[in-house]
Amino acid sequence: MNIPPLEIYQAKKRISPYVTRTPLVRAHALSDLCEAEIWCKLETMQPTGAFKLRGATNAILRLNEDQRKRGVVAVSTGNHGRGVAYAAREQGVRAVICLSSLVPENKVEAIKSLGADVRIVGNSQDEAEIEANRLTEEEGLIPISPFDHPDVIAGQGTIGLELLEDFPELNCVVVPLSGGGLIGGIALALKAASPKIHVVGVTMENGPAMVLSLEAGKPVEVEEEESLADSLGGGIGLENRYTLSLVQELVDETLLVSEDEIGQAIQYVFETQRMVLEGGAAVGTAALLAKKLEVQGQNVALIYSGNNIAEKTLRKVLDA
Ligand SMILES: *Cc1c(COP(=O)(O)O)cnc(C)c1O
Repeated sequence: MNIPPLEIYQAKKRISPYVTRTPLVRAHALSDLCEAEIWCKLETMQPTGAFKLRGATNAILRLNEDQRKRGVVAVSTGNHGRGVAYAAREQGVRAVICLSSLVPENKVEAIKSLGADVRIVGNSQDEAEIEANRLTEEEGLIPISPFDHPDVIAGQGTIGLELLEDFPELNCVVVPLSGGGLIGGIALALKAASPKIHVVGVTMENGPAMVLSLEAGKPVEVEEEESLADSLGGGIGLENRYTLSLVQELVDETLLVSEDEIGQAIQYVFETQRMVLEGGAAVGTAALLAKKLEVQGQNVALIYSGNNIAEKTLRKVLDA
């Protein structure tokens, strides 16, 4: 199940009219604290507030005429659904987004406002998945996986190409990890250019599906729990085809962070950079603040993967 790095270059060309070429900015306070050069890739500046627009746009632009007419269906913890809804609207393709009741209201509203047909089913990603499978089988909609899809992985990998352009000295990248499409794509792009770049995945202690699957050597189911990092929830799919082997091959290290550490990282980024991150995007900072990763003297990129945090949650975290 190989994805040639060339696919990522092609994806970059394909999606560039539709996604933001995001800036890379220095995290001054964190760089001082860690005695390293730490730079942040601001995927928060995508029109949907998260990087998932890249993969979704690439997948939709790759549909053939017949598939475009049928429309697409996605299961999502929020950001993928929003990316698919946005890209589908942009390309004039129908989109149905299946969400579990754990998806925060702000994300549900954002998806609806993009004109997608939203279905809220059950209390887990897996239950939402059942409805998406039914739509695929009975109504012929084309499924777009949030991570386990070569076009999605290639789309997310375009972040890696931009990092190489903006930060050629890079020797360590710290990436939020859930299904592994983001880190898989970035690692493919970076390791093809320079195999020595250290690729670190960070996820939350509450239901770390990929980390447990790596330990088991096969996809394992996880109990979905509430987390500040809601966009990192859900399993990797028992039928996982691409991302588990990509992560096994290309990711050098994985780390877990607690809810408190994620909250503190959101607070720290707000205080020191005046930027808002959602929990899923703050896990890299959390790992550095908790000294779970030694980066002294290195050139580090952190992926600020999204900013779609509910206002109520943000207030609670900042007041804590
Ligand atoms: C989806 C998501 C991730 C994780 O991406 P995967 O490809 O599932 O590993 C990280 N951060 C945010 C904000 C996300 O929406």
